Amino acid sequence: MPRNLLDLSDEIIQRIAYFVHYDHEVPIPSFNPHWANFASEISPKVQHDYLKLRLVSRRLRDICTLKNLYMKMDSWQKLLKWSIKGPEQVKKAITRLVLDISRRTQHPLSNGSRYQNDMVPIWITTIDFLRDLTSLRELVVVGNPLCDHRNDERTTLDDITNSVQAPLPYLVSLSIETKCEHCVDVVPRLFIRLAPALKHLKFAPPPEFDRMAKSVVKRVLSDTVNQELKTLSIRNFNHTHKNTILAEIVRLCPHLQELHMATYSSSVVKASYLLHCLQETATSDWTFKMTDNNYDGYRMIEFDNLPEGSDQLLNEFLVTLSQLKNLRVLDCLIECEIHSIDWDLVIVPSKTERKTDYQKYRSSHKAIYDPVLHKATNKGSYGHFESPLRSAAKLIAQAVPSLEKGYFWVHEDTEEVFGLSSWMRWEWTCKRTIDQVTIALESDFERFSESWMSNKDGQSKDL
Ligand SMILES: [Zn+2]
Repeated sequence: MPRNLLDLSDEIIQRIAYFVHYDHEVPIPSFNPHWANFASEISPKVQHDYLKLRLVSRRLRDICTLKNLYMKMDSWQKLLKWSIKGPEQVKKAITRLVLDISRRTQHPLSNGSRYQNDMVPIWITTIDFLRDLTSLRELVVVGNPLCDHRNDERTTLDDITNSVQAPLPYLVSLSIETKCEHCVDVVPRLFIRLAPALKHLKFAPPPEFDRMAKSVVKRVLSDTVNQELKTLSIRNFNHTHKNTILAEIVRLCPHLQELHMATYSSSVVKASYLLHCLQETATSDWTFKMTDNNYDGYRMIEFDNLPEGSDQLLNEFLVTLSQLKNLRVLDCLIECEIHSIDWDLVIVPSKTERKTDYQKYRSSHKAIYDPVLHKATNKGSYGHFESPLRSAAKLIAQAVPSLEKGYFWVHEDTEEVFGLSSWMRWEWTCKRTIDQVTIALESDFERFSESWMSNKDGQSKDL
């Protein structure tokens, strides 16, 4: 019987080492949809225990080779130091990197000189460092060394691109999480052009106008056409026409397997689409309409009075989505708005109603929606969402035969209780036979506070 670690066979030690290095728990891509502000998975803590294990003896060092290292590159000085003095075997073992270098004025190379004069050398230095990381598979760009917009005279994208030809051959996952709205057009494309193996992308077009958002999406995704993206996480802004963006995505990324689209107004998350659900009293069937510009008044308008084109918008959405023949997972932050007489009374009491009647409706709804109830109770309390959400999911599942899983959202204003609003998220899965699909709706929904979901990717003007 072995008495200590060193008595174990090489094979057993390798198995132990595998579990001690938490890289095996972190998927590729590790980035989240824009609404999910979890802490970054790319933390050097992942490899701490593994590196400690290597320190036990020379034999363990030989068995547990340096691999799957995570790094955060957070200053230009550090990048220069690593470029010159970084140990080669460590650089070759780095698989995931967060690039978070704040504005370029802090770099020795910038030195107050003009924008176009030093853009190219800064880019070449950055890419030279990244190219030394020969195992790099995932890159998250938070702050980038090119972010300096003091001068309108810009170096063109081609000037910078042409300065570096050699690619980052193993980079499969790229997440652009820069807060700078000026960088969101050019920076993704610079990296995409150097990543022939790219499969997973996250980025945010600028928050300006419909036309600009569309053209940025078009330019960025046009550069990915040869890579055949599998995962796309994109951020929209409130006034963007979502189906136009969706059509560009479908046209330029027809191989997508997973699509996430979150929408923001400033830093506050909004639904990308509002799916209005109404149950026909005669048949109990659900009918649906869709709006997409997040005018809050739509929540208060009766189903029949929704703007013209709501039917057409839903139809357009389904037809466009149906062209993604490999789509498996869909979360476009589709909010379900269930229209019913009771519901409308709670939200908009009419002038002909007595206050006491209104309060009765309101209190009965509060009993259902009380957010301090425990999850187990919620299962029953939220049961009335089941029928419309299941019907809506079926509609989408029938339009997209490859779809396995999707999500719906319901906005909940819990101001009176927490001083916060929150979002509930339901997961649904498709069970398919040759000619039919049935929907399983997860009864344990998730709840996220609106403030937790807020962020400023691609929108800050003050950088
Ligand atoms: Zn910038």
